[in-house]
Amino acid sequence: EAKGAGRNRYAEFRHEMHIAAHERLELESDLRGAARRGELFLVYQPILELANGEVKAAEALLRWQHPTRGLIPPTEFIALAEESGVIVEVGAWVLDTACEQAAQWAQAGMPTRVSVNVSARQLDDPTLVNTVHQALVRSGLDPDLLTLEITETALMRDAESAAQVLHELRRFGLRIAIDDFGTGYSSLAYLQQFPVTALKIDRTFIAASEQNDPLISTLVALGRSLGLVTIAEGVEEERQLERLRELGCDRAQGYLFAPPLEAAALERFLADHGALV
Ligand code: C2E
Ligand code: MG
Ligand code: MG
Ligand code: MG
Repeated sequence: EAKGAGRNRYAEFRHEMHIAAHERLELESDLRGAARRGELFLVYQPILELANGEVKAAEALLRWQHPTRGLIPPTEFIALAEESGVIVEVGAWVLDTACEQAAQWAQAGMPTRVSVNVSARQLDDPTLVNTVHQALVRSGLDPDLLTLEITETALMRDAESAAQVLHELRRFGLRIAIDDFGTGYSSLAYLQQFPVTALKIDRTFIAASEQNDPLISTLVALGRSLGLVTIAEGVEEERQLERLRELGCDRAQGYLFAPPLEAAALERFLADHGALV
């Protein structure tokens, strides 16, 4: 009967919700010790200079090899880690590991700037400036080889205090890029206040480049007019690359060139490209 079926579906729904909540809690507590247990690792995606095809930078992207669930992509745990605050501890591990790796590359004669994602929650955390400083000191990495990527949305949550933190970070000599640019609602006045060096144009604009062409050209022009380096994310096709070149975009990253690679594979990629002077 209709009423009974409805009640049944509700019970099922409640059951599923319960499982979801339980799973979230489990994943969250698993993540707490993941770095210590050696389950986290970083992959690195090359960032190309469009003018000459050189690779002088790579973005560090987090991966979690869960003992029973297998490989979990960041899209499935970063949001959870932010809500619970575990991202602060995980983010510190990411910073340490990426700086250590970049310092090794520099020592091996292949200086490659490493770009590290910093989430909104980390930006709000009073320990961030010290955490970054520690990562630089421990690794001995030249700060010029470190870029922090912060999303436009994270910056705009509390623009005033974000600007202050960015100024403190910039004093170390590192660089800052605005990530996923174009997806938030930045006030141009604020954009100018942030001591940033680059804009990463979100891949949703690049993916639908046919419909989005006027948008992409506006975003590239905006970056250029602010004196910022422009970087296109998610370049998958040759014609997207050609268009970005025409528009004067500075750098690009995407499957067309390389997926995110484990450290050893990135080293081979750099060697094969022979792009480093
Ligand atoms: P993001 O910072 O915008 O990173 C770019 C994402 O686009 C990466 O996904 C990368 O693998 C993917 N990508 C690169 N080229 C292409 C392409 O040509 N096509 C498509 N479809 N995708 C491409 P990934 O590694 O799954 O990371 C997703 C997001 O998770 C990142 O977006 C970033 O917001 C977050 N994330 C990753 N690692 C970290 C981390 O260490 N800390 C923090 N706080 N967030 C992280
Ligand atoms: Mg990023
Ligand atoms: Mg991005
Ligand atoms: Mg993105």
